[in-house]
Amino acid sequence: MTRYSAWSILKNALKGNKDWTPAWRKPEPKSSYDVIIIGGGGHGLSTAFYLASQHGITNVAVIEKGYLGSGNIGRNTTIVRSNYRLTPNSQFYEKSMELWRELSHNLNYNVMFSPRGVLNLAHTPGQMDTYAERGNQMRLMGVKSELLDRDQVARLNPGLDVSGSARFPIEGGLLQPDAGNARHDAVAWGYARAADQLGVDILENTEVTGFLKEGDRIVGVETNRGEIRAAKTGVAVAGSTSRVMKLAGVEKLPIESTVLQAFVSESIKPIIPTVTTFGAGHLYVSQSDKGGLVFGGNIDYYNSYAQRGNLPVWEEVTSELVAMFPNFARLRLLRSWGGIMDMSMDGSPIITAGPLDGMYLNAGWCYGGFKATPASGWCFAHTIANDKPHALNKDFTLDRFKEGRMIDETGRGPTPWYH
Ligand SMILES: Cc1cc2nc3c(=O)[nH]c(=O)nc-3n(C[C@H](O)[C@H](O)[C@H](O)COP(=O)(O)OP(=O)(O)OC[C@H]3O[C@@H](n4cnc5c(N)ncnc54)[C@H](O)[C@@H]3O)c2cc1C
Repeated sequence: MTRYSAWSILKNALKGNKDWTPAWRKPEPKSSYDVIIIGGGGHGLSTAFYLASQHGITNVAVIEKGYLGSGNIGRNTTIVRSNYRLTPNSQFYEKSMELWRELSHNLNYNVMFSPRGVLNLAHTPGQMDTYAERGNQMRLMGVKSELLDRDQVARLNPGLDVSGSARFPIEGGLLQPDAGNARHDAVAWGYARAADQLGVDILENTEVTGFLKEGDRIVGVETNRGEIRAAKTGVAVAGSTSRVMKLAGVEKLPIESTVLQAFVSESIKPIIPTVTTFGAGHLYVSQSDKGGLVFGGNIDYYNSYAQRGNLPVWEEVTSELVAMFPNFARLRLLRSWGGIMDMSMDGSPIITAGPLDGMYLNAGWCYGGFKATPASGWCFAHTIANDKPHALNKDFTLDRFKEGRMIDETGRGPTPWYH
C-alpha cells in the first residue's frame, strides 16, 4: 500500500497517476474473526484501528450495511470541541482533542483538522455568568477557555451583528480557542485505510440481520452474505442502535432515534473565522474550505429512522442564523440532509461491555459523536480487548440509568430532544 507523502504524489504524477492502489481492500467475509464490529461509521472504524494498532488484535471485521460514510460520519457539521462541564465528559472529550491533534499524522491521511476556535455567544448577563462558570470548570480540567466581552467578540468575528438593536443583542461569549472542525468523510476514509493496512477486513454492503447465540452468549452474526462467527461482537451503529439490539433480543434501551438536519449555503469569501453558536436558541455555523456556510440546529421533534427532515426546522434554524448575521439573508441555501441521532436520556454516551455476554455496546452520541470519534474508538477498543472499561469510559455504562448515576451535562433530565 502506498504511503501518502509529497514524494509519492510527485512520483505518481510523473507516472501518470496509474500506480495508486485503492485506499482499502474489498475482501470476502471470513467465516470467523476474533472481533466483529457492526457499523462502519466513525466509531466502528476507529475502534477497529485502535484494536489493531494499540492491542495487536488484527483478526477483525467491520460490518457495514451501506458504503463507508453513508451514516452520520458523512452527514455531520464537523464540529470538534471539548467544552464540557462534568468531569467524565470533560476528560473523555479532551482525550479526543489530544487524538485529533495527531490524527492526520497517525493515520497518514489528511483529516483537515482545523483548530479555528469554537465561540459560544451569550445574549444575557445571566448567560455570561453561566459561561464564566463553565469556562472556569474547563480550565480546572486543563481545557483552554476564554471569556470574551462584546468588543472582543466583534473583533474576532466581524460579520456578527453586535449592535444594541440586534434581535438578540450579544453580551459576549465563551471561546475554546483550540477547538474547531475536521473533514468528516476524510475521517472515515483515513481510519478505514489505516485499519485495512493493519489487516482489518472492512465488509461494505453487508447487513447484519440477526445474531448467533450459544445459550445466552453472542457468538457472531447473521448477514446478507452469510453467518460470521466471532469471540467478541461490538455494536457501533449510532442511530440504528435500537433496531440492531432488538435483533439480539434487547428490547429496551435508554435511547431514542431522531433526525438531525444539516444545511450548506452557496460559497462566499471567508467571513466566519470560528465555529460560532447562537446562545438564544440552538444554532451552530462554520465555513467550509470551499466557502459554504455549514450549519445546523435542533433535532426534528419526533422519533424517526428516516435520514431526511422537515421544513419547520429549516425555518427555525435559518431564522437563528439571520438573527446573528443579518447579511446572510441574501444567501441561497445549496443543500440539506438528515441523519439519525442516537439520543441518550442524559445526553452522555454509552461505551460498555454487555448487555449480553460476548457483546459490547457503543451508542448514545446525541448531537456530538463526531468529535468523540477518536476517543470513542480508543476506549471501546480497550473495553473489548481487556473486557473492562478504560478509565475514561468507566462511567459511560448502561447501569447508570438503572442506578440513578446519570451524567446529565445540561441538567435537562430524560428529555432527549433537549440534549
Ligand atoms: C446533521 C448532523 C450534524 C451533526 N453535527 C455534529 C457535529 O458538528 N459535531 C459532532 O461531534 N457530532 C455531530 N453529529 C453527530 C455525529 O455525526 C454522530 O454522533 C456520529 O457520527 C455517530 O457515530 P458513527 O460515525 O459511528 O455513526 P454512523 O456513521 O451513522 O455509523 C453507523 C453505521 O452503522 C451502520 N448500520 C446500521 N445498521 C446496520 C446493520 N444492521 N448492519 C450493518 N451496519 C449497520 C450504518 O449504515 C452506519 O454506517 C451530527 C450528526 C448529524 C446527523
